[in-house]
Amino acid sequence: MAERYDLAVVGAGPGGAATAYYASKAGLRTVLLDRQDFPRDKPCGDGLMPHAASEVALIGLADWLDEPHHGKFTSFSMYTETAYLRQGVPPTLHGPHGYVAAREETDAKILERATDAGAELHTNTRAAELIRSSSGAVTGVEAVKEGETLRFDAPVVVAADGVGGFAGNGMKAHQNAVARRQYFRGLEGLDMDSLHVFITADMNSDGAGYGWIFCFGDGRANIGAGVSTKALQRTGRNLKDYYDRFLEEPQLKAWLKNAEPEGPAKSWSLKMGMWGAKRYAQGLMMVGDAGSMIHPISGEGVGYAMESGRLAATWAHEAHERRDFSASLLSGYERQLRRKRARVHLSGQAMVNLVPNLSMMEPLFKACEKDEKARRTLIEGFTGDSPIYSLLKHPQALGRALQIAVKERRNGGG
Ligand SMILES: Cc1cc2nc3c(=O)[nH]c(=O)nc-3n(C[C@H](O)[C@H](O)[C@H](O)COP(=O)(O)OP(=O)(O)OC[C@H]3O[C@@H](n4cnc5c(N)ncnc54)[C@H](O)[C@@H]3O)c2cc1C
Repeated sequence: MAERYDLAVVGAGPGGAATAYYASKAGLRTVLLDRQDFPRDKPCGDGLMPHAASEVALIGLADWLDEPHHGKFTSFSMYTETAYLRQGVPPTLHGPHGYVAAREETDAKILERATDAGAELHTNTRAAELIRSSSGAVTGVEAVKEGETLRFDAPVVVAADGVGGFAGNGMKAHQNAVARRQYFRGLEGLDMDSLHVFITADMNSDGAGYGWIFCFGDGRANIGAGVSTKALQRTGRNLKDYYDRFLEEPQLKAWLKNAEPEGPAKSWSLKMGMWGAKRYAQGLMMVGDAGSMIHPISGEGVGYAMESGRLAATWAHEAHERRDFSASLLSGYERQLRRKRARVHLSGQAMVNLVPNLSMMEPLFKACEKDEKARRTLIEGFTGDSPIYSLLKHPQALGRALQIAVKERRNGGG
């Protein structure tokens, strides 16, 4: 026997759980399915940029964020081949800081908010396919739990299944980067209040990628590296090889001298950049990674998953109010998301596609080192707080970058 709901959400990560939270708050009878049980790990850098922290705070977890075992950062430190850039975090409504919180805990907390708001959760339940009427309209989800097939009837479905691809090829977003991370305890010598980002020669001479160290408040650190799949194709190398070489960088070796790993290194893929992904159809919306909402430069996606979930819940509610579940009505979700995020995501994606390797950016990094305003804009381009083309507002830094590039070429360096 099928149960009837107003909304079925597939995937209970930050995107799906936020959708279910807002939909339940708005009075929709919501079912939330996940193939895993919670708490569960999700390979991630665990960094919550200020805008992501605002989303977490918005669902009532501001006090939890401030618990001391989480990391709380107030600045970014960016290490490139030729430059060192340090910049304060741009202020947001939630304050001029971000957090580092382990996804195993964060996702369980967000999910708890969704169930407290009234969402009905089914874990260990894998959504197998969309159910459609004879006219092709979405009418629910078929799922499998412990070998039993279950039906969840609903006129609107939100797919928030990350890289799962449950909604089918027509809706599938592209996977364009991979990343790996491991936890360590006992790093010494680094500033724990900063997010450390390394644009290394090894990762960038044949593509784009970066390494990171994000510190918790309990003495642990998340160390990771992400590279574009194009870089892997171009070099024939694998992610583990990039990651292992990152750990051999002299600065890391020094900080890691007396550190111990905690648990295995884990890898996952990323669907980045809004371009090319289809995020709505009749009776269906795609949220978070399933909708390719990861920022194309930073690889950050928790805040965007929650934000897209918040907007999708609003449009699911609107569809019920109007008794209209058409693609035309749900296109409002896409329009609202684009109005908010397209400038930042699309320009970031254009930059990543136009610049074949990040080593080409070194003159600009060097020029930003001594230009505070340009440096802030560059870092904000990385964090998604400004579109990367805002750098055009700094002609002096761009001119200086050009001078550095010409000088290097004359000296046979470029
Ligand atoms: C190594 C790495 C580091 C990263 N670092 C950061 C960072 O520091 N900060 C940041 O903001 N972002 C980071 N990201 C990106 C971030 O992890 C994702 O953007 C985020 O997890 C997106 O959330 P989501 O809810 O869309 O998907 P997910 O968190 O992937 O959740 C999807 C859920 O769907 C479930 N599911 C899948 N298929 C099915 C199915 N058929 N039926 C039922 N359930 C299903 C899964 O079990 C899972 O629980 C990183 C990513 C990687 C890989």
